[in-house]
Amino acid sequence: MSVLSIIRDCLDALLHPSARTDAMTRARHRAFIAPRLLGSLAAFAVFPAYLAMRGAPSALEVGALAWLIAPILLSWYLSRTGRYESACALSSLALSALIMAVSVETGGIESFAAVWLIVVPLEAAFSASRRVVVFSAALALSCALLLILIGHLGWLPRPETNPALRTGLLAFGVASATLYAAVLAFAADTLARTSVTLLSMEEERYRLLARNMSDVISRHRRNGAVMFISPAAETLLGASVAQLQGHGLFERVHVADRPAYLTALSEAAGGSEASSVEFRLRRDGAGEVRGAQHPGDFIWVEMRCRPLDRAGLTPAGSEQEVVAVMRDVTDRKLQEQALELARNAAERADAAKTRFLATMSHELRTPLNAIIGFSEMLMQEQVLVLNAARRREYAQLIHDSGQHLLSVVNGILDMSKMESGNFEITPEPFAPRAALFNCCNLLALRARENGVDLSADAPHDLPVITGDPRAFKQIVLNLVSNAIKFTERGGRVTVSAGVDGQRLLMRITDNGVGIAADDLKRIGDPFFQAGKTYQRRHEGTGLGLSIVKSLVNLHGGEMSIESKLDEGTTVSVALPINYVAEATAGATITPLSPSRSAQPGQMIQVKKSA
Ligand code: ADP
Repeated sequence: MSVLSIIRDCLDALLHPSARTDAMTRARHRAFIAPRLLGSLAAFAVFPAYLAMRGAPSALEVGALAWLIAPILLSWYLSRTGRYESACALSSLALSALIMAVSVETGGIESFAAVWLIVVPLEAAFSASRRVVVFSAALALSCALLLILIGHLGWLPRPETNPALRTGLLAFGVASATLYAAVLAFAADTLARTSVTLLSMEEERYRLLARNMSDVISRHRRNGAVMFISPAAETLLGASVAQLQGHGLFERVHVADRPAYLTALSEAAGGSEASSVEFRLRRDGAGEVRGAQHPGDFIWVEMRCRPLDRAGLTPAGSEQEVVAVMRDVTDRKLQEQALELARNAAERADAAKTRFLATMSHELRTPLNAIIGFSEMLMQEQVLVLNAARRREYAQLIHDSGQHLLSVVNGILDMSKMESGNFEITPEPFAPRAALFNCCNLLALRARENGVDLSADAPHDLPVITGDPRAFKQIVLNLVSNAIKFTERGGRVTVSAGVDGQRLLMRITDNGVGIAADDLKRIGDPFFQAGKTYQRRHEGTGLGLSIVKSLVNLHGGEMSIESKLDEGTTVSVALPINYVAEATAGATITPLSPSRSAQPGQMIQVKKSA
């Protein structure tokens, strides 16, 4: 261990605890104590040798020796109290007292020591306090004036008459003062260097901290303009800090979230409370980084902002700034959205179950009552004296009710199979025009019974399409029978077909009861029926449209419904002319029985592929 480091350790041990935590204060205290303590101790050490050479000391010499205790006392004072400013002021006072004592003894303002008065305010510059500098300057000036005054009043002892000694003393005074001033200048330079080093170290520490934090720290004006943003933003947004400065960050905020973003900042700037906001930020290259999970290039960010506390440094009337911490919360948001979707799905499933129970109890009870009622009549045919025609009629009614029950149950089975996925379609080329007219012919009788005018229109050159012809018929039958069912007597149902690019377009239009806008959104959900279930005048399970929707999807087509209450409904179906196998995940659609496929309103059974 070198002597210097030993001295430094000893000095550090003397420092007041308040000076040990802050490096700059420590350097100042060390610079105050070291020269005073070491200088005084060195002078004490040399004094006996001086006495041996000079003989008995004069009163002035004894006074100077006594004064040497002052720097030691000052060092002790600073070490005990840590009051740097006061110690500097006391030091100026002690130095001025010594200069005054020597000057008064050696010729007043003309003394070789008087020049040392210049050093007093110079030394006070180390206090880093204007008050102490002003005090020291005033003290030095007062001492100079006092010396002039005393000299003027003739209270000074007789000046040194030996010109050689006078010149020698003057030279010593100027040289020693210059030397001391030079030492002060060096010390000031060292302190300045220490201060710069400490500052850059501190800056580097904060920069390192900001660079290694995943959260982004930013400073904003009240209007949202960024004045500072930490480098973590580059990782978060894939843009450079320079691009985010000013309004760069604001331009990345999703348009819909901009009002909330600005409100949070201006609220934080206006009050003392911290505010928090969640918004979307455009991220460069987000798509590649995060994949399809993140729609578009936006990420969700949570920003907490609070007014910048500058501990009274903000000048009165100046704009309040805001400091904000941003964090990527996209994963949490996605989880929340998934949760919301799952909750909605669960609610929909619950509503579907309720609808199912309500519809089914009605749909099953009506034909079952008919079966029980008419079979009881047949059992009591002796008592009721039924003729053959009546018996046939009752048997027919029981048969029809049984058929209806079967179609209801089949519909449920078909739908549940479709919903469980993985179906295979067996596509083949067929003529859609013939299939369309065939379906309309099958439903013509029902339309006539209901007093509805059914007409079909399709060009003769309608191309042959590739698809599942049975599924196609099922789609047309379900849609046309719905149109007839929901159209009042005297109404009109029009079926038309045409080609639009690579798609076959079918349109089934009626001027029937129509569907309310609220219900329209949910039409096509399994078991959903528009209007109130118990006020219904029509039979139905609420499965027809959802089966149509699934079949159209299996073909890679689209279905849309336009409707207005009391005005009518148009259902449009677009099917690709050439069925592409990849458009659907394989499904086999086979008729339950050859006869059933031809029956209007009946369902097709969908078989899962192996
Ligand atoms: P349903 O067995 O009840 O007919 P669907 O799935 O075929 O079941 O239709 C669902 C609901 O959509 C129907 O209950 C009805 O309220 C409404 N709807 C379907 N087609 C029409 C239409 N052409 N006009 C008015 N409402 C319709």
